[in-house]
Amino acid sequence: QQRPVSMEAYWMPFSANRQYKAAPRLLVRAEGMYYHDVDDRPILDAAAGLWCCNAGHARPRIVQAIQQQAATLDFAPPFQMGSPLPFVLAQRLAALAPAPLNHVFFSNSGSEAVDTAMKIVLAYHRLRGQGQRTRFIGREKAYHGVGFGGLSIGGLPNNRKDAGPLLAGSDFLRHTLDLSRNAFSRGLPRHGAELAEDLERLIALHDASTIAAVFVEPIAGSGGVILPAPGYLQRLREICDQHGIVLVFDEVITGFGRVGNAFAAQRFGVTPDLMTLAKGLTNGAVPMGATLVSDAVHAAFMQGPPGAIELFHGYTYSGHPLACAAALATLDTYAEEHLFERAIELGDYWQSALHSLRGLPHVIDIRNFGLIGAVELAPRKDAPGARGYEVFERCFRDGSLLVRCTGDVIALSPPLIIDKAQIDRIVEILGDMINATG
Ligand code: PMP
Repeated sequence: QQRPVSMEAYWMPFSANRQYKAAPRLLVRAEGMYYHDVDDRPILDAAAGLWCCNAGHARPRIVQAIQQQAATLDFAPPFQMGSPLPFVLAQRLAALAPAPLNHVFFSNSGSEAVDTAMKIVLAYHRLRGQGQRTRFIGREKAYHGVGFGGLSIGGLPNNRKDAGPLLAGSDFLRHTLDLSRNAFSRGLPRHGAELAEDLERLIALHDASTIAAVFVEPIAGSGGVILPAPGYLQRLREICDQHGIVLVFDEVITGFGRVGNAFAAQRFGVTPDLMTLAKGLTNGAVPMGATLVSDAVHAAFMQGPPGAIELFHGYTYSGHPLACAAALATLDTYAEEHLFERAIELGDYWQSALHSLRGLPHVIDIRNFGLIGAVELAPRKDAPGARGYEVFERCFRDGSLLVRCTGDVIALSPPLIIDKAQIDRIVEILGDMINATG
């Protein structure tokens, strides 16, 4: 006989902002563009779950791949062993990525992919006799997960609150992102190329030879869908090259077609030294993260003097067969349905639809790029974030629409299979719910 336990046995993920204690919204089924809740209410998914289900839900090819793999080889220990699948998947991923990113380290989440990248960067510098490079530069408003590494470089102070002490022995600097709004500019913001100068100032202040890496989300997602000004990422690349600093793109959100190429690196024409991935890698169906590493960084590990580095790294589930099978089927689906091109094909329509919300009460900015977007609302004076949360709640309960809210920013990242009628529906519901919000 089992003893009775409360619903609180499941300690749900929570945020620093604990003022909203709504009952969980239970989703029990999903297909294509829709979730269904416990009452079998269809809910249009304008968030790809949590920026991950880029091919839509329950795609038969992915489902079958997972089922077959579970029945064939459920697990293989990854240390000096494994199934053939991660070898195949690593090659497929490298082939999709910009040229020198030819090596892939698998993990289980975006947070682990980021921690892995940080470990690799530190060891890389030590291997090259530059062990003094222990400082990391992240950006304001950046989200890099909840591991101690990702939290330490992240730029959302609320997430770090009461989570410390964070990583010791390193120093974490924050590159200011000019958060002044794009003021309804369509596509990339016109101003802001000067943003990179702040990075230069930071480097000058802290001695470039002590800095290990700069971590950047090409588009900051969880921080509120903040778009890079043209030339900004190029400038970061130049500055890092000039000072021997490793540049890492966190493409956990921007990867896999969100901005019209496999990765934002290609769309913006800037190649980082490392790239972190998760979410869309398996279409959200199975947990998986990946850290892509350039030839140069990888070579330092391979060519270092014997015994020069004793770095131990790897997860029990690195390259898990189920995750690999899901990822391979996901990549097949993206390719067959040309989903990476959708964000370009639909980009103009998406932009016009979102910008039709201009002029609604409280709307102070609208941002879009590819198939990502944001509607920013004016914060209530006494309760920043409350208005965004109210719209998010209304969308779900009254409008059957799943969006994300990060503070007062309503973030949108629909599955790439979305059609124009569904874009119209998203905008219609969102508009109604914004109008209904005080
Ligand atoms: N990096 C970025 C850019 C993310 O958006 C996220 C998750 N939202 C993470 C890392 C962390 O990923 P996970 O939640 O899978 O650990």
